[in-house]
Amino acid sequence: MKSRPKFDDLVDCLISIVGSLPDQRAGNNLKYTMEDIALSAFSVFFTQSPSFLDFQKSMREQKGKDNAESFFKVKNIPTDNHIRECLDKIDPRFFFPVFNTVFNTLEQNGIVDSYRSFNNNLLLALDGTWYHSSKTIHCDKCLRINHKDGSTTFYHSAITPVIVKPGNDKVIALPPEFITPQDGHSKQDCENAAAKRWITQNGPEYAPLGITVLGDDLYCRHPLCMLLLEQGFDFILTCKPDSHKALYEWLNDFEEGVNIFSFTKKKWNGKFNEFHTFRYANSLPLRDSEDTLWVNWCELTITDENQKTLYKNSFVTNFVINQHNVEQIVADGRARFKVENENNNVLKTKGYNLEHNFGHGKEYLSMLLMTFNVLAFLFHTVLEYCDNKYRLLRSKLPSRKTFFDDIRTLTRYLYFESWGEMLEFMLKGLEQRHRINPP
Ligand SMILES: [Zn+2]
Repeated sequence: MKSRPKFDDLVDCLISIVGSLPDQRAGNNLKYTMEDIALSAFSVFFTQSPSFLDFQKSMREQKGKDNAESFFKVKNIPTDNHIRECLDKIDPRFFFPVFNTVFNTLEQNGIVDSYRSFNNNLLLALDGTWYHSSKTIHCDKCLRINHKDGSTTFYHSAITPVIVKPGNDKVIALPPEFITPQDGHSKQDCENAAAKRWITQNGPEYAPLGITVLGDDLYCRHPLCMLLLEQGFDFILTCKPDSHKALYEWLNDFEEGVNIFSFTKKKWNGKFNEFHTFRYANSLPLRDSEDTLWVNWCELTITDENQKTLYKNSFVTNFVINQHNVEQIVADGRARFKVENENNNVLKTKGYNLEHNFGHGKEYLSMLLMTFNVLAFLFHTVLEYCDNKYRLLRSKLPSRKTFFDDIRTLTRYLYFESWGEMLEFMLKGLEQRHRINPP
């Protein structure tokens, strides 16, 4: 990929993976290439337009050309049915190298380094998210919850790791890890096991960069922390009293100013004064066992002038905590909520949830479409960093929704020679509007 990846480079990156996919189709079914099939599906996620392919088919009939071809290099647009059948057989893991390639490109461009935080580390937030839930639609790889009334909820979930930074609203998505059914395990066990798989598989690639793993209380367990350290990761994990009784018993015996320390800072939040009280202690047992890992603990309580608690959370980490670094360690620990806010919520609520367009499949389809969804999200982030026109447009249009609504409408009625030509058209139109109606 070129030094500053553009839209076409990202599409080429995807095409190069598709070119190496196993093609399991029977003889008379080869009108469409695998590139046509995979890029058609991806285009729906990238444009966030469930009708994108229908519109481009009509355009092709009328004008002899269409935007699926000029943007995504789709020569023939397959039917939704054909896309569904073919993609259902493809393991989404084939596409994971795209995440690593894109990450490496961002790294070469100095963008990854702008995410460095405490200890000059990158913050990697791990979190599980549901991306399909239904009482009727299901496949072999669905997880299930059997309800007392006899009904069943079928769902899919995955770990969706992202690089985050406090104060930066953009996150960099890394390959997901699917949480798949395992007999005799609760949902919680599944998520923990999936996290371990991700850490083991991706540790060699990412840990040498200097990475602090962030996660909720579910991840704050002896075996997982040991695995993180073995793989060369640092960690800052939420640590709740209910699930860490041994640690909090030790903490209760500690003496203020001797082995537990605290201080309070007054901070103006724009409306009123907040009081941020930091407490920290080093060398505490993570669990009640001979071989326990010893960790360091810190807590932030935010109160208002009436001493009403606005926020309270505590973390454990392998970093030794002191009065100079506790604030930054806590800030990094809190950045985990970015996964929920910036990543999972965007994926679920801001137009990325387009599974209904292709259905659920019997084997891999649901997982593959989720992977395309996250990849589309990653590509949008890359373009915001690396494509000046894209960034300018996003800054001029009030919301993500407006941006994609406009793209949906434009690509329905107009043909553009390239993605770049469409962005230029939009920018030109906005400048004219701004001239007529100065703010
Ligand atoms: Zn399923």
